[in-house]
Amino acid sequence: MNQNRWSTATLAPLIWSLAVLLTSLCTSSFAQTENEQTKRVIVCSTTQIADFTRQIVGDRWEVVCVLAPGEDPHTYEVGADDSFSVQRADLCIENGWNLEGHGWMANLARDASKPIVTCVDNIEPLKINEESAPVNDPHAWFDTKNASTYVINIRNAISKLDPEHAEEYAARTELYLIQLRALNHWIQQQVNAIPKARRILVTHHDAFGYFGKAYGFKAISPVGWTTGELSGVSVGARQEIVKQIRDLGVKSIFVETSINRETLDGIARETGISIGGELYSDAMGARGTAGETYIGMMRENVLTIVNHLK
Ligand SMILES: [Zn+2]
Repeated sequence: MNQNRWSTATLAPLIWSLAVLLTSLCTSSFAQTENEQTKRVIVCSTTQIADFTRQIVGDRWEVVCVLAPGEDPHTYEVGADDSFSVQRADLCIENGWNLEGHGWMANLARDASKPIVTCVDNIEPLKINEESAPVNDPHAWFDTKNASTYVINIRNAISKLDPEHAEEYAARTELYLIQLRALNHWIQQQVNAIPKARRILVTHHDAFGYFGKAYGFKAISPVGWTTGELSGVSVGARQEIVKQIRDLGVKSIFVETSINRETLDGIARETGISIGGELYSDAMGARGTAGETYIGMMRENVLTIVNHLK
């Protein structure tokens, strides 16, 4: 009798049920893993661009940033990891105007045959006079109005690739643009605390031209628009900065988080003035710092500048 109770015929439905249950569990787990693995990927060159992109896509896309917080885009050299990241990308995003020294982001995208968006498209460039010909200043994000154009360019490209969720991207973009307009208004108000004659911003390299134009500062630096190999600090440029600091009665000068501070420390000693603190320029701060987002880096920069120049 007992043997009959456990016959194959009796066990068959039980085995079938277990098999269905296991298959169902495995399929569910596989589907979840597959969903994570098939999330679309955007690879951004700079930390600012990665932040703008995350504001638009939320968690719907995986956003990868080539540069780590504090890294200099002018002198960055790509590695095998970057090529691997771009191989996985559905879309690449660069700043443009050669912020990425020798066009490294565009080269990565081209080598992997990936589409690329250039954030400075539709922005009116500030011109910088080079010995050979004028070039476009690439640090356009320092005017919050230009930052809005970056955001719109990124949203347009993402919505084109994923029209099904275009309304969602438009809604996030709308909210973020409101925050950028509020930031712009707040900066104007903060800067009003600095007497006009003291609105002179001395930094290591020419990253603050757009900031100066938007918010009424004269921005000067011993190094040109790029920190690349052709733009070391010449003796003449250093002497000129020291003269300007003395002639203009500059109170404080500012080092940049992504650049060695040695040159400016030397100029501060020579002129007998103080270093007013560190500014975020071409890179934002590390995760967990006040400068880990674009709005955070702009806010912290303005507070530092106002505190030391007012
Ligand atoms: Zn720069």
